[in-house]
Amino acid sequence: MTPTKQLVSKMNDYQKEQLDTVSVVKTGLSRMGEVGRRELMVCIDSYMAFRKTVDEFLSSHFRDICTETCFASQTSACCGKDSIITFFADTVVNALAATPNQLDLLEHVLLSENTGHRCVYLSPDGCVWTVRPIVCAMFLCDRAMEAVFSQWPEAKTQWNDLRCREKDFKWPDQPVLFDHLEKVFLNLGLRSSLMHLNFSPGLLNVKRKAGLLL
Ligand code: SF4
Repeated sequence: MTPTKQLVSKMNDYQKEQLDTVSVVKTGLSRMGEVGRRELMVCIDSYMAFRKTVDEFLSSHFRDICTETCFASQTSACCGKDSIITFFADTVVNALAATPNQLDLLEHVLLSENTGHRCVYLSPDGCVWTVRPIVCAMFLCDRAMEAVFSQWPEAKTQWNDLRCREKDFKWPDQPVLFDHLEKVFLNLGLRSSLMHLNFSPGLLNVKRKAGLLL
C-alpha cells in the first residue's frame, strides 16, 4: 500500500514511525523469500505458544469483568491512548501471522487521521493487529486485577508466572527472540527506530551488564 501525500500529511509522527516499521518488515520478508519466512515462523513458535497461553488465561479469568466494566459501559482505558510502546518484533510477528488482507487493513487504519483520543490501531471493529503488541497483551488495569486476584489468589500466581515468561522473549539480559528478530532484519541492511533492543541506550546497557556486549 503506497500512501498518498495527502494521507501522510494528516498522520502524526507516531503513525509515520509505525507505518515505516510495517514497510521495513514487509521489505525484509519479501527479500528473504519463502525459505527465510519459514525459518522465522519456526523461531517464533514458542512465543506464539506463550501468547496462546496468555490469551487463554485472560479469557478464562478476565473476559467477564473486562466486558462488563469497560466495553459495555464504553469506559475502556486499555486502548484510549493514541500511542503505545511497540517493539520491532511485534510488527514482525504480526506480519508473519496476518493474512495480506489483515495487513492491508492495519495499514489502512494507521493511515487514518487520529484525533488523539484513542489508539491509532483501534478500528470500529476493534484492534487491527492480528497478534497484539506484547505491551497490550500483558496489560491489566489495577481495577480488574484487584477484582479478580482478591477472589482467585491462584490466578495472581499464574499471572506473575506469565510476566516472568514474558521477559524470556524480550528482556535482553540473555539472548532473546525480540533481539534476534531485529538482528535478522539488520543483517538484511534494514533498520527501524523501533529496534529498541539494538539501539536503546538503556537496553544496550542491560546487554552490557549481562556480558552480551563489549
Ligand atoms: S494496539 Fe490494539 S490492543 Fe493495543 S492499545 Fe491499540 S487498539 Fe488496543
